[in-house]
Amino acid sequence: MGAGLEDLFGREHPDEPDEAKGELRRAMVVAAHPDDADFGAAGTATLLARSGWEVRYVVVTDGSKGSDDPAFTPETLVAARVEEQRAAAAILGVQSVRFLGFTDGELVYSRSLLGAITREIREFRPYAVYTHDPEPVIIKNAFVNHNDHRFSGLATVDAVYPTARDRMNFPEHLAEGLETHKVRELYLWGANEPTFDVDISEVVDTKIDALLAHASQFKQEREVMKQMLDYWREPDGRYLEQFRRVVMWG
Ligand SMILES: [Zn+2]
Repeated sequence: MGAGLEDLFGREHPDEPDEAKGELRRAMVVAAHPDDADFGAAGTATLLARSGWEVRYVVVTDGSKGSDDPAFTPETLVAARVEEQRAAAAILGVQSVRFLGFTDGELVYSRSLLGAITREIREFRPYAVYTHDPEPVIIKNAFVNHNDHRFSGLATVDAVYPTARDRMNFPEHLAEGLETHKVRELYLWGANEPTFDVDISEVVDTKIDALLAHASQFKQEREVMKQMLDYWREPDGRYLEQFRRVVMWG
């Protein structure tokens, strides 16, 4: 058991699971590519882990298109990115990483994508789920929200509600011994209108360490990475991860 959420998070933090209702101190971060979880939620993930929560990353695609370096084949790139994501998770105290193995750059909305994420939720039984906001095609009039990000986010939102919750969906999971599951809180990064700020100032260096673990993606030195994060720093000096928060009903 770590420090309380209030001690580590500052002003805004997730609610505490109600253990009397069987709710677990678990958070799942669903990301399209290796490194997306670290851009979107590494600070929040490490704060949760330090608070005694169990955090799991689920990476939807294999990252096989993410390099211009001719030294890589798709196979060696996938293998490198698996190792990089595991190393980043270890730096953050994220206890486990799952790789769903869909092809990078080719994600479409499908029953197999929805079923794979639903299965992960039913198996891990998280209290809170973090993922890409699927709604914006353009974020803040500045970035295109990658196709894989949109479909990963959309399938995750749908898996949270209603698919993982209802027993008639993917009944083969129940036949295998999994149970239905109600996620209580949903957090979306990359939102045009975020509603929830996590102050990650205390752990920003740990977030940079996690990002630098993705060596196939970032050749930058620590100082360059810091300057990049400084671009998003608040006028008051705080570093934030911003989300759209949905507290689920019922
Ligand atoms: Zn990505």
